[in-house]
Amino acid sequence: MALDKRDLYRLPWSMNDNPIAWLEITDVCNIYCEGCYRQRMTGHKTLDEVKEEVAFFKQWRNPDNVSIAGGEPLIHPQIVDIVAHIAASGIKPIILTNAVALKPELLRELKKAGLAGFTVHIDSHQNRPHWKDKTEADLNELRQQVTDMVAEVGGLYLVFNSTVYPSTFHEIPDVMRWGRQNFGRVHGLVFITYRTATSDTSVATDSTDQKVDLTKLSYVKEHFDEKFVTSPEVYDLLKEAFPEFEAAGYLGGSIRHDSFKWLAGAQIGSRRQVFGSVGKQAMEVAQAGHHILKGTYLAYLSQAQIGRKVFLLSPWDPAVRQAAKNWWHDVVRHPSHLFDGIYVQSVGVIQAPDLMPDGRADMCDSCPDITYFDGKLVNSCRLDEYRIFGGFLSVVEKPEVETIAGRLN
Ligand code: SF4
Repeated sequence: MALDKRDLYRLPWSMNDNPIAWLEITDVCNIYCEGCYRQRMTGHKTLDEVKEEVAFFKQWRNPDNVSIAGGEPLIHPQIVDIVAHIAASGIKPIILTNAVALKPELLRELKKAGLAGFTVHIDSHQNRPHWKDKTEADLNELRQQVTDMVAEVGGLYLVFNSTVYPSTFHEIPDVMRWGRQNFGRVHGLVFITYRTATSDTSVATDSTDQKVDLTKLSYVKEHFDEKFVTSPEVYDLLKEAFPEFEAAGYLGGSIRHDSFKWLAGAQIGSRRQVFGSVGKQAMEVAQAGHHILKGTYLAYLSQAQIGRKVFLLSPWDPAVRQAAKNWWHDVVRHPSHLFDGIYVQSVGVIQAPDLMPDGRADMCDSCPDITYFDGKLVNSCRLDEYRIFGGFLSVVEKPEVETIAGRLN
């Protein structure tokens, strides 16, 4: 069934009341990933600079968590102090990492400093040592190694994200299947659809209407001739492979009324099987309840074990009702399963910015990954336009491309 915004809960996040603050502590990385938005220009930020940004986020963002990003945050020499400072400020610190530098001793130190969890980026287009030319299914072995290491320390939230390229789109179910085998240990999966501008077909101007060199941006390719994957296409693929999966919430586009920029869902299951998903009503209860009780909206649950109490939402939420029925049928067939833990595992799909014919970009409405730059909040996916050109660029097709396209139509 096609996605319909009326069947989904529009996440209540906004510029000034958003569960996520995106803090970039370095632009240095230890591997090169094809889809990365950042290039090395300024190096590691000092602890004082980081503290200033955390204070800015506290004042203007009301975050539930700080996503500590980069570059690669684990190679920042003061990563433990940064985590401790954020935790002491009463915000959950989450590290976004490629996990190359993740070792058990560091993991224990970070946990002691107050780390809430990790979002680990693994996909087959990274230039990862010892893991070249692998499929997404091959990389599940690496995801498992990281999961086992994090589970060994315990008490940490763990999400895996991957960039989805047209060439790897069909491999998404392999990642989802692996995630479902790790219910209770893997708390979420996120699929981010790849986007790029191409310098051979596009021309860019800055805020003063001056033509600029697009190739200075790491996320611009000289040439790209595949069709980008959209969030609804990812959703359809997941639905086909896992019919009990449902999306429950969304963020639309900043320009287009019909974009699905963020799709958010959560599966309900035990370590043995998945029973179903939460629906829009449960998503609304989770967001509003968290805001009433804690004062912030919610992006990361503190723990995946939610228990059978989730089924109490059955009278209001048809998706939860279906999951409860499936659970009950399983218990009737296997009474010992009554005492199995019940967990949720979130599933997110993000469709990165799309260029519009007039040169603007359709961004994520209420961008959750907005970051700090020079006293302003700037979408992190386009931060390098500010760092290199002083503001967002306008990118349109070269006139000769338009003419050729016109002739072909
Ligand atoms: S607009 Fe915000 S949420 Fe969307 S891809 Fe860019 S940084 Fe991420």
